Amino acid sequence: MLKRLIFVFLALASLAFLIDAQQQRSKRTRRSSHRHQHRATRKPAKPPVTSFVTDSGGSELIVRLLDVGQGDATYIGNGSSKVIIDGGPDPATFGRYLDSLNLNNSTIDVVILSHQHLDHYSGLRELFKTARHIHVRYFFENKDPAPAATLAELRDSILSRMDRDSLIYRDTDDPCSNGRPICTITMTGGAKLHIMVPLPGGDGPNNRSTAVKLIGPDSASFTMWLAGDAEHEEIGWFETMGYNRNPGMLVNVLKADHHGSCNGVTPRYLALTAPRWVVASVGARNEYGHMHTQAKKIYRGAGVPWYRTDQNGTITIRSPGTVGGGFTIIPQRGGTDLDGPSDRVSRQPGCAMRMR
Ligand SMILES: [Zn+2]
Repeated sequence: MLKRLIFVFLALASLAFLIDAQQQRSKRTRRSSHRHQHRATRKPAKPPVTSFVTDSGGSELIVRLLDVGQGDATYIGNGSSKVIIDGGPDPATFGRYLDSLNLNNSTIDVVILSHQHLDHYSGLRELFKTARHIHVRYFFENKDPAPAATLAELRDSILSRMDRDSLIYRDTDDPCSNGRPICTITMTGGAKLHIMVPLPGGDGPNNRSTAVKLIGPDSASFTMWLAGDAEHEEIGWFETMGYNRNPGMLVNVLKADHHGSCNGVTPRYLALTAPRWVVASVGARNEYGHMHTQAKKIYRGAGVPWYRTDQNGTITIRSPGTVGGGFTIIPQRGGTDLDGPSDRVSRQPGCAMRMR
């Protein structure tokens, strides 16, 4: 009898324990779902630089216009493919991005130098620092003679990697080494890059910039046009060359040519590209007056909003690569259509009339 009483007591006690545990669990669940709802109603946090590690791979296309000051540096990732267009003016700054993008000890499939100005090539020297163990498969540039010692250093690194590391060094004047003006590279997630021959005999390095068209895995979702520092002479020639028909210049996003200079845009160029967004890579303190008032007026006149790296930090564009997936464009901070401290009206002749 006593044994039976003890058994009943133990059974009731363990039942009470189970019920209590269940109640605690459901309380916790309610609390956490409340917390989740609370979090969902808050604005999403701005992505910190370290969030680069969340890049998902697969078919997602990621484009980052890096905040490197007065210069250009763009990273493109799709599947396992990695592409860099220009490296900005400062190796230390670009090196920090190589760290945060987890590019050390990796293969970068394609590096493109748009043209031979320091604010585009200088940071690229960091790619070849031995300690980084970065393997570059293809390097594209127009190979024009240029006197700068730092450019010679970059070219020496490229040549030595051809011997030691089977790097392929391509001339943008014949980008696929087959005599054709457009070289198409397909990334492993399905995105495509068209690398185009620059204006032969352009009047200086800017007008020898290589144009690149980036097409997302779902071409209807995302396209982008980047043409380095091409000025009026070359952007007019893009149409003469027929790039508006092949590979086509209509895009979702236009990288402002020449850091938002008035000589990097015309109403015709905007009509041909018809972007939904303009993104400009520009330093807050620059001696050129970028972004020029005239350029902003042209963008505004066409109803195209802009982000700019000096005010918005690194600008990230993502397209999931699925049919109809569209794209998002996210600045590190700040709103659209901002002005910068160096912005001013340019007095150069080709721009003056465009103010009216
Ligand atoms: Zn530049």
